[in-house]
Amino acid sequence: MSFMYIEPQPLIGHWIGGRLETGSGARRALVFDPARGIAVREVALAETADVDRTVAVAAEAAREWGDMAPQRRARVLFRFKELVERHANDIARLITREHGKTLPDALGEVQRGLEVIEFACAAPQLLKGQHSHGIGGGIDHWNQRMPLGVVAGITPFNFPFMVPMWMAPVALACGNAFVLKPSERDPSPSLLTAELLAEAGLPAGVFSVVQGDKVAVDALLVHPDVQAVSFVGSTPIARYIYETAAHHGKRAQALGGAKNHMVVMPDADLDQAADGLIGAAYGSAGERCMAISVAVVVGDIADDLVGRVVERAIRLRIGSGLDKDIDMGPLVTAAHRDKVAGYIEAGVREGAQLVLDGRHGLPAACSEGFFLGATLFDRVTPGMSIYREEIFGPVLSVVRVATFADAVRLINNHAFGNGVALYTRDGGTAQAFVNRVQVGMVGVNVPIPVPMAWHSFGGWRQSLFGDHHAYGEEGVRFYTRYKSVMQRWPESIAKGPEFVMPVNK
Ligand code: NAD
Repeated sequence: MSFMYIEPQPLIGHWIGGRLETGSGARRALVFDPARGIAVREVALAETADVDRTVAVAAEAAREWGDMAPQRRARVLFRFKELVERHANDIARLITREHGKTLPDALGEVQRGLEVIEFACAAPQLLKGQHSHGIGGGIDHWNQRMPLGVVAGITPFNFPFMVPMWMAPVALACGNAFVLKPSERDPSPSLLTAELLAEAGLPAGVFSVVQGDKVAVDALLVHPDVQAVSFVGSTPIARYIYETAAHHGKRAQALGGAKNHMVVMPDADLDQAADGLIGAAYGSAGERCMAISVAVVVGDIADDLVGRVVERAIRLRIGSGLDKDIDMGPLVTAAHRDKVAGYIEAGVREGAQLVLDGRHGLPAACSEGFFLGATLFDRVTPGMSIYREEIFGPVLSVVRVATFADAVRLINNHAFGNGVALYTRDGGTAQAFVNRVQVGMVGVNVPIPVPMAWHSFGGWRQSLFGDHHAYGEEGVRFYTRYKSVMQRWPESIAKGPEFVMPVNK
């Protein structure tokens, strides 16, 4: 079996009604090879008319799909799961070619997406309702989880396969049609995903892709037939999506940015902590919403820990993510690389101690691409922009604090509350941390605590707008409406009309 979109197309189009098309407008955006620093293809940018047509096709397809027995929907997802397993390397290559992350890291992304598909294969079990037999007067009472209809997902550049998979498999399992608006910076994996779903037997129109920018997003946000919007991206856009979707009467879950701290206690194994920091701060060039960007070092171990981090950081192998034995690839675009470099400049200006400067000393092979090396700041303070703001690059800040209580206070006062980690050998400290820290995802001696598919993913404060976390049972709740049914049959209706609130004493 061969698929057309295993190789990226020169012009990346939309997937509407089970077919590829380039849309009604002529607007295009460039897509880059970040390792070489050149534009390699274009992506079509949808106009409002394209979105309207896509939603109309999706609404039509949703009716039959939503009526289909859940186990039959699950069978499509089982086949999709097998196809994703078979084509994991193809998907990973597409990710690396447009995002820049290393191939093993991209394969990890595919695996985490796959796990949500596996979860969604349990659709019949997930959608089972609850039943109360004989609540009085011959009445049975139960609830049903009903599909919403058409739902949309708007996704960021940093996980072009995994984040759409946080949404689509669960939405589809629940009987909805799903419209994906992927990031315009690495759009190719979305088309291979669409093709694999079609090959798995998903009816045309149940999964669509509209490529685009704000125009496409706004068209989805105001469309009366889009019932719910899932968003993952930066905090200002997340807030905008949440507010606009709610204003137009839609359900919304909008996951935003992050500034994840790792607290290192004096009793921690410092080599383990340094290894944890290196992977979590510089993996995927820091372009992960669960990246650790702040090390909060408690007590007098900071010099020792910084030394161990430096030892490891200077040995990082930087280069094209397609090459062998690379630890860190390029950033996604020149604009993003320049933004991150601007933060390094700001950190210096604000008085942080620049221990490692990733703007210099890169290997010669990196001269054309959007590369930055590992950057380390020490003696960062809470007032500095490099502490307050999300940088989303390979920049780690060390904040020195005196006590555990100072560390927890610092974290709880930050605007973001996505993920957090603690390194310690002490059970009491770990327990106090888990209880007191005001963050959605917590790791104890685990640097990147990304919940498994059958739990749910989400941060607190400005890292998430909405009531539901992504995927897992939270996803099932988000993508279904609750219907409460009471039923009795004529033979059991004993009395005439009743004028008081029904009670059953
Ligand atoms: P982004 O906010 O720039 O873009 C996300 C999506 O929104 C894209 O599809 C984009 O086309 C669209 N978009 C951009 N500007 C828009 C506008 N003005 N109006 C409407 N739509 C718009 O985010 P990004 O740079 O692609 O991704 C990185 C960000 O995503 C980081 O902030 C990162 O922390 C966050 N992220 C968060 C999570 C999480 O789970 N909390 C996961 C991954 C990434």
